[in-house]
Amino acid sequence: MKYKSYVLNNYSTIPQIDKLSEESKHNIEIVSSVLPFKVNNYVIDELIDWDNYENDPMFNLTFPQKDMLLPHHFNEMKAALEQSNDKNYHMEVSNKIRLQLNPSPAGQKEHNIPVIDNEKLYGVQHKYRETALFFPSAGQTCHSYCTYCFRWAQFAGMEELKFAMKETELMIKYLEKHQEVTDLLFTGGDPMTMSYKVFKKYIDPFISDQNKTNIQTIRIGTKVLSYWPYKFLTDKDADDFLRLFEAITSKGINLAFMAHFTHPVELGTEALRQSIIRLRNTGVQIRTQSPVVKHINDKAEIWSDMWRKQVNLNCIPYYMFIARNTGAQHYFAVSLFDAWKIFRNAYQNVSGVCRTVRGPSMSCTPGKVQILGVSEINQEKVFVLRFIQGRNPDWVARPFFAKFDENAIWMNTLKPAFEEKFFFEEEEFKYFRENYNDSEWESFE
Ligand SMILES: *Cc1c(COP(=O)(O)O)cnc(C)c1O
Ligand code: SF4
Repeated sequence: MKYKSYVLNNYSTIPQIDKLSEESKHNIEIVSSVLPFKVNNYVIDELIDWDNYENDPMFNLTFPQKDMLLPHHFNEMKAALEQSNDKNYHMEVSNKIRLQLNPSPAGQKEHNIPVIDNEKLYGVQHKYRETALFFPSAGQTCHSYCTYCFRWAQFAGMEELKFAMKETELMIKYLEKHQEVTDLLFTGGDPMTMSYKVFKKYIDPFISDQNKTNIQTIRIGTKVLSYWPYKFLTDKDADDFLRLFEAITSKGINLAFMAHFTHPVELGTEALRQSIIRLRNTGVQIRTQSPVVKHINDKAEIWSDMWRKQVNLNCIPYYMFIARNTGAQHYFAVSLFDAWKIFRNAYQNVSGVCRTVRGPSMSCTPGKVQILGVSEINQEKVFVLRFIQGRNPDWVARPFFAKFDENAIWMNTLKPAFEEKFFFEEEEFKYFRENYNDSEWESFE
């Protein structure tokens, strides 16, 4: 199967395009002038139900929707496109809107960037003790773009927001100094958009016997299994990849795909099934994760179905996330309360082998906060929360409480219950005061 992708400039050549209403096409043109849009032939031919596209989860996952922009942003972009043919002017307007969409949530751009030999390692994030994230610059794209993507700013052509790193050398040096790091997580974008030749260049130094790092698990954060399973079937370097994976796992390194699956439809194709079989035969482990998002997967049955199908395919359910506070969050947001109900109802309806999943979880500045549930203590209704991961490892697995708020969609609006401050706040504040200036502090949620 030959990969073919469509973006704003050529989307009118999609074979099924006549199924779309004029209005849908118009909306695509306006919204994708602000938020990135890309979809490929596998998603179009095998995943989307074109006869019912308006309610189709895969269509909603990959094609821009009108309400993803707030009405005033939509109208502003629409007017700009109508008033002028000047591309630079369009760009100016769209960049202005983008900057109002919190392009870099949870301090992704400024915080957590390690330093070695007085040099900042852009392209690396080290927030939680055991795991370092690596953003190889060649993997800062995806086979299709998710409409809810929280890394959208990396794809939208705003160069200064990209964090990427060309060389692995500094990274190795850093990891050698930081023996507490056992996990290296390749992320992006999608590192599995790289060709074998490029990917091998990136990964070789980490698996070479020469390095003195303490890496025991290499994870690859990817949506390739959903968006392009042919990567490991018919792409010309498919077999090279599989041999490389096998070489890694036979060294005793745990190689894990952190596979992003949003909807059970993505688990139903023969191409996916075959691709997973081939990967699993190399010793690769597949763990799964996704945010819970309105219009796509905000129902408990969808999640229980998804977890069950994943286990049947020998994948391990891992995380359910809350959609981040960026981009089109207002459109996709599911309240914390609803997310918890969805999680709980889905979790209750599957057996223990599916219950390896954890969530719903918010990746915030202090850490990954899990909503354990809603409870009542001393006649006060509260959210029971805990850190799955914390900037300070001591915070992890300590239950804490926030005032119940039915409409809250993110940590920043939660108020502590029974106390003036959340237990970690003092320490967080001190950390930021020491490391960042006031203007950066203001942007801290
Ligand atoms: C989620 C995440 C990790 C990985 O956490 P695990 O709980 O080990 O899966 C690492 N770094 C950052 C910044 C993360 O958000
Ligand atoms: S696969 Fe991940 S990084 Fe790529 S568009 Fe989707 S959410 Fe964004």
